[in-house]
Amino acid sequence: MYTRSLFINNQWVDSISGKTMAVYNPAEMSIIAKVPYADDQDARLAIKAAEIAFPKWSATLPKERSKILRKMYELILAKKEPLAKILVVEQGKAINEARAEIEYSASLLEWFAEEGKRIYGDIVPSVKLGQRLFTFKQPIGIVGAITPWNFPVAMIIRKLASALAAGCVMVLKPSEETPLSAIAIAEIALEAGLPAGVLNIVFGDAIKIGQALTSSDSVRMVTFTGSTRVGKLLMQECAKTVKKVSLELGGNAPFIVFEDADIDKAVEGLIASKLRNGGQSCICANRIYLHQQIQDEFMQKLKFEFEKITVGNGLDETVRLGPLINKQAVEKIEGLIRDSLAKGAEIVYQASIDEQKKQSNCFLAPQILINAGADTQIEKTEIFGPVASIFNFTDENEVIKRANATNYGLAGYVFTKDMQRIWRLLEQLEYGMVAINDVALSSEMTSFGGVKESGIGREGGKLGIHEYLEDKFIAIA
Ligand code: ADP
Repeated sequence: MYTRSLFINNQWVDSISGKTMAVYNPAEMSIIAKVPYADDQDARLAIKAAEIAFPKWSATLPKERSKILRKMYELILAKKEPLAKILVVEQGKAINEARAEIEYSASLLEWFAEEGKRIYGDIVPSVKLGQRLFTFKQPIGIVGAITPWNFPVAMIIRKLASALAAGCVMVLKPSEETPLSAIAIAEIALEAGLPAGVLNIVFGDAIKIGQALTSSDSVRMVTFTGSTRVGKLLMQECAKTVKKVSLELGGNAPFIVFEDADIDKAVEGLIASKLRNGGQSCICANRIYLHQQIQDEFMQKLKFEFEKITVGNGLDETVRLGPLINKQAVEKIEGLIRDSLAKGAEIVYQASIDEQKKQSNCFLAPQILINAGADTQIEKTEIFGPVASIFNFTDENEVIKRANATNYGLAGYVFTKDMQRIWRLLEQLEYGMVAINDVALSSEMTSFGGVKESGIGREGGKLGIHEYLEDKFIAIA
């Protein structure tokens, strides 16, 4: 059993209240750790530490900050195996996916270690004689970061690497489901020589910690990854002090397969997108629209692939699909399925997972559902589980309209070989990210983010660091 603490000012500390909370392994429902349960008092201490650290960190040469991020990159790769195991044990994902998450996280540190050296301003032509105009960039200041449990390492590192490279300091509240991954990152930061107060971590009472961050005058930005509901709430709270917000919120990704698509590629893509992290990803295929002409062939091949999925404890190298994060997640999806069935849907495949259910009630059988009618909750809601929810269509305009008929706008996927259609879809789909004949959207070199109620701002890539910078305009006469 792990016993770890909050991380404030490079010190491992208990909560001021003395309260603790348990961390569970969802594959067995066993307690794997007891950690402090912080509240607003602890968050204020963390903010204080960040306030003291900011002037010095922001004045450090970019090259020096880069060296520390680079060291973190090396350490994360060197510790890939133990880090991946922590991820599996507290989050549930399959070990190979955990390794991939660690590699992605490392790549973000490597990328931003370099990007931090390329923060340029502008020289602007004068508007009157004897005048010089220019702009330069400055770090925004103390950043409050709130992160989810689905990619507990990558979602922290994507914010942390860019914020630190920009010269910002951070108070992080990771998900209470997955504090151990956050603690492991703090250990790496310590070993890499990150100065005290630059990264502070508190977890416990999410609402109280959230309020301490949003109400603080010295926190200048809140960056959040999580549900649209909480994102809206934080945005409202941040309005009181006009804080900048960067929000990576929910998705409802359409996955459209046209009649001329390479069906094998589309099935392979769907499996990769739908089952990544057990379907608990905001960009995973949520509504699968198949052209009527290819529906039978597609379904047959999809079923064949679903039959191969191995479900179990993520630590087992042969397992493809682990448990969901908790029992509530399973119950939510079961409710969506019930609603679909009541509206005429049919389950065309469901795996048997009796053995897993004996271990934990966090397992949900991978399944394929064909929806008969419209107006199902499953078409409107982010499923967040291994359920392939299929609809069919016959007309391009109809499917574009249906794909856009949502308040979400994160990721969309299209499979077709028709180049003119590709352009029409690229332009018309109201999504921050669109993949054509592909499903890979996350990389350190590209910027990730959504439109509509899927969020504000971009993380990673060329744009990521700019979220944490302010432009200062200078006029000299
Ligand atoms: P999910 O459904 O993926 O758990 P949430 O939006 O509920 O998404 O959680 C994402 C993060 O937001 C977690 O760290 C969680 O603790 C935090 N969170 C949830 N509610 C609040 C709140 N009212 N204020 C601040 N943070 C919150």
